[in-house]
Amino acid sequence: ALPLLLHLYIYRKTAPTSLPAFLLIGPSGAGKTSLLTLLERGNPSPTHTSQAPLSVEVTLPSDTTAASNKYRSASDPTAQKNSRFLLIDTPGHGKLRHFASAQLVAPQNLKGIIYLVDAANLSSDSAGVSGSNSSGLTEAAEYLHDILLALQKRYTNAKTSKGPRETPVLIAANKMDLFTALPAPLVKAALEAEITRVRDTRAKGLLDSGIGMDEDGDREEKDWLGDGGEGKFTFKQMEEVNVMVEVKGGNVVGGQGGEVGEWWEWIGRQL
Ligand code: GDP
Repeated sequence: ALPLLLHLYIYRKTAPTSLPAFLLIGPSGAGKTSLLTLLERGNPSPTHTSQAPLSVEVTLPSDTTAASNKYRSASDPTAQKNSRFLLIDTPGHGKLRHFASAQLVAPQNLKGIIYLVDAANLSSDSAGVSGSNSSGLTEAAEYLHDILLALQKRYTNAKTSKGPRETPVLIAANKMDLFTALPAPLVKAALEAEITRVRDTRAKGLLDSGIGMDEDGDREEKDWLGDGGEGKFTFKQMEEVNVMVEVKGGNVVGGQGGEVGEWWEWIGRQL
């Protein structure tokens, strides 16, 4: 684990800390590398390896306004400064995911989380990549479940009564250029249903082992995602723990060189 920690240390040492930051997370193959390449355009392009987290500095396109710039003219130097941000890429492979959790636990200037999914790989019966028996939907939902649970715990474990400030989460439904892609509202519904299933499966496993129950043998509410873990999970339930989830479609490649306007708009609203 040492080299990985070292990477994290190096990142901490070198990344400019003053800029607002967004975490880019998602299953492998969702399009994270492609998105970074697209957003980097016009910025000096750093070398990219899939092993270490990478942060790139991005400037909002001139037709998107940062919320903090609403009343500033575009030539105001403050306006230009306010439209810059860091996008922190995290490798999508299972073993490396703790990078993402480490960032979640100690967010520095974290303005939001962008969870990228392949909207064309969310049918529940499609076989997963490389012959694994888990579908793209299950993988996407399990990963997202864990991120949301980490955010929920950060809120419920907060020492102050106020709790951490709002954490906006954008579920960026990618590859909308493909005709097999689900539209954003269906991506939302599919992920909510599958997260409900993931939660139930985990709950059963934990309850069978006696973990996740209080002294009276009841379910420990804080260990389950959303509303005490009963019934159907919806992203709206996350608002109670100050996590605002939005689902927006786009495509990084294809069409006229990508369509990510709705994602830019969401980023601008958080700045
Ligand atoms: P990562 O594993 O999340 O970094 O995903 P990559 O950026 O490597 O993308 C995986 C594959 O999906 C590559 O072949 C990309 O060209 C492709 N891809 C990424 N975004 C899109 C998109 O919007 N539309 C289509 N059709 N393909 C995409």
